[in-house]
Parts: sequence; structure tokens; C-alpha cells
Amino acid sequence: MGPRPAASARPSRRRSPRRRRAILASVNEPLSFRRDRRTTQLHDPRRDFALSAIESEIRYDPLTGESARICHFAPPPAAPPDLGAIAEARRATCPFCPDRVELVTPRFPESLVPGGRFRRGEAVVFPNLFPYDDLSAVAVLGKEHFVPMSDVPSSLVATGLGAARDFLRAIAPRLGGAGLYGLVTWNHMPPAGGTQIHPHLQVVATSEPGNALRRELAAERSWLEERGRPFAADLLKAEGAAGRRAGTSGNWTWFAPFAPVGVLGDCRAVLPGKSTVTELSDEDVLAFAEGLRRALRAFARAGLWSFNLTLFPDRFGERTGAHWLSARLLPRLYLDNLLHVPDASYLQLLLGERFSMAWPEEVAERLRAEFGEG
Ligand SMILES: [Zn+2]
Repeated sequence: MGPRPAASARPSRRRSPRRRRAILASVNEPLSFRRDRRTTQLHDPRRDFALSAIESEIRYDPLTGESARICHFAPPPAAPPDLGAIAEARRATCPFCPDRVELVTPRFPESLVPGGRFRRGEAVVFPNLFPYDDLSAVAVLGKEHFVPMSDVPSSLVATGLGAARDFLRAIAPRLGGAGLYGLVTWNHMPPAGGTQIHPHLQVVATSEPGNALRRELAAERSWLEERGRPFAADLLKAEGAAGRRAGTSGNWTWFAPFAPVGVLGDCRAVLPGKSTVTELSDEDVLAFAEGLRRALRAFARAGLWSFNLTLFPDRFGERTGAHWLSARLLPRLYLDNLLHVPDASYLQLLLGERFSMAWPEEVAERLRAEFGEG
């Protein structure tokens, strides 16, 4: 008799015998890292037009099957511009600096947030003046106008993430709670879409979490149903065995994913057993902030100075165990600082195709050096 799904799977629907056999067959199937190698022949002007073979690779995400191209011809990133000068140029008009935040940022209705703004330590949460959902907020992390990616204090992140968590805890019941997703994201500096230099998070409560998260959650539910264990448990084991683990901070595990998203690599963190930001303990928040500081420093050492960060939660009240809370860290860059050439083009935006010029295995090595596991 074959292995049976563990009790945590939900055999709630009646299935055909064929479907049941397929499920039983897949229970012990290992997670697979599928890749296709490609070779292009060309006469290379950089080598006196010698006939040359240039290799690239297409990798497939082990959960969704989505493809990602790796073309390893990355020149080192251009030297960062004068970030201090950019920050200073915006200081006088910054709406998030302590002397202006009270005067120029919007307030929530009293019925939603008594006092109009939500505060935790030096962090302050208020409505986004340009909302894109029923509840769309901004969390200013602290008083500091500019923090370079190379030195993001973990205390700043812990304060901001803790404020976002507490805000979502307070606000979710007033919005109907279960069924909503509490998203926390960060766009740092202009290449990442950050329109304000001053460090701030976006905090959104929504029933529509976005295509990527929706696809992942659906695939994870199928994984749990078919194999009786959460996808992320298999993923952490497999990424570790493949040498892409970066290290740990508290209960978080950090790694460079097999099928990358970023042009110069990216990084993920997974927290076993919890699925929403509101479930984070103070220790989880502190540990995440410390891991993020290390990961950011690793990318900054490679010449990067901008990033997107998004926490991927399940919906409030979801108790299937299919999803473990994860965070995606995506360094962003101008391919040319003078022309402001962005790192996204038709591939990512119109074809939905990931494109990287860095091997995740090398990214993992750089990350490990910061996590003390190199
Ligand atoms: Zn400021």
C-alpha cells in the first residue's frame, strides 16, 4: 500500500479513483528544479570575431512552473550616483520628515483610527493620499530622512514592521477581517518605484492580493492536498540541498531562489508555521529585521542601492497550513544611471517573463558571507 497523505491535508471533496491514484503517486515525489540549457553561436567582435558559443538557461519555478531566463553576461552595476545629494535635494519638501508629517499627510476617519494616525514608537501610519484599495496606508519607519541600503538599521525595520503588524491587527476586524490579505511592502529609492526618499512601507488590506500571490496560494493548496505537507517545507529542504541557502535569523530561513526574479538576483525568507503578518511575534519581527539588514548589505556590497520588499501572506484567519509567510527581496537598479534605463522591459512587463543576469548560486554565496555562513 502506498503512502497516505497526512491528516493535515483536507480530503474534503469526493475524488475519482484516477485522481486518487495520481495523488497517492505524487506524495513522495521530490520537488524538482527543472532547467533547459540553451546555446547561441555567434562571431564575437569582442574576441576578434571568433565563432563563440554563449550559454543561457531557462529555469522553471518549482511551484508554479513559470519560466525565468538566466543570461550570465552581467557587467558589474554602474557606480551608484551621489545618494547623499539626491536625499538632500528632497529633504526640504519631504512630507515624511518629523516637522512636516503632521501637517501634510492625510488622516484616517476617527471611526477607523482614533486620532487619525496610528503610532508605534517613532513609526507613524496614515492613509495613502493615492489609495489603490479600500484600505491603503503608508507607514513611515522613523525620523531619519535617508538610510542607505548598505546600512539599514534593524531597529528601524523592526519598528516599522511592528507598527504595520499592530495596525493590521487593529484595523482588520473593523474591515471585516477574515478573507482579507494584509500586505506589507517597501519600495526603497527611485529605481524601485520609491517616490519619496524617506523610508516608508505600504500597508494594504485587500480581498485582491495580486496575481502572483493568488497563483502561489492556489498552487500551494494543491500541493498540500496532494502531498499532505506544505510546499514551503519541501522548498526549504530542496533549496538548502542545492546550496542556495543563505542563512537564518531567528526562525526565518533566507535563500536565493532557483528561478530568480531580479536582474541581479533576489532573495527570499520563509517563516515556518505562520501565514500572516499579524501572527508575527516581537521576536519574529526583530529576527526578520536583522536578516533583512544582512541581505541588504550583501546586495549593497555588489553595488546596488535600491530594492522592493514584499511580504507574501495568506488571508487573515486561513488555517489550512498550506502557506508559510514569506518575504521577497528584489534589488532594483538602473542599467545606466545617466539615462535612467530601468531593469524591467517588455520581457517582465508584457510577457511576464523573469530575467536575470546573475546565477542564484553565486547570489547565495554572497548572502552567506553576510549571514556568517560563508
Ligand atoms: Zn524626510
